[in-house]
Amino acid sequence: MSEKDIRITADPETIVDAEESSLPNNILAVGEISTDDVKVYIKQDVYHAIEKRSASNMTIELGNILLGKVAEVFGKRHVIITACIEAKYTDASSSTLTFTHETWDYVNKIHEEKYSGLRIVGWQHTHPGYGIFLSNYDMFIQENFFNLPFQIAYVVDPKQKIRGFFQWQNEKVERLKGFYLFGSVLKFSTVC
Ligand SMILES: [Zn+2]
Repeated sequence: MSEKDIRITADPETIVDAEESSLPNNILAVGEISTDDVKVYIKQDVYHAIEKRSASNMTIELGNILLGKVAEVFGKRHVIITACIEAKYTDASSSTLTFTHETWDYVNKIHEEKYSGLRIVGWQHTHPGYGIFLSNYDMFIQENFFNLPFQIAYVVDPKQKIRGFFQWQNEKVERLKGFYLFGSVLKFSTVC
């Protein structure tokens, strides 16, 4: 694929900030990867940081903002998660999570300071003990704050130790059957 096949633009509706050649290699599939689904790649240190934080408090919901790049190769969308920002200052209970103005101020500040080359590709939150799905309120958040076609939701249940991603497909939000891990397992940095 030549460079002119790849459109790079600031318009968030138009995909693409990575090329085919920059898709992660050394990937490990978790679950089943369906041809028509968005391909989600999450860097191992981000994955482990989220797992660790998700298990740090099982009495309230916790969240993170996911950052990375988006690529479209042969009409297939790829979302590559390389960093995250803790959703601090949320209004949280055992079954809800609300991003406050303070949450967004903090996220925007860190995004600008540390991750200006990355875009917000989605969000993550926990469901301590009650499984992987998006509630009506989660759908409200998805529709209002993460409504670009590539923006995903990631839910972790730290009690049951299960997790799942959700994608926009035909204007609905559908669960992905699987995702890819990539990057070194040895390098646990203090990402997010
Ligand atoms: Zn939820």
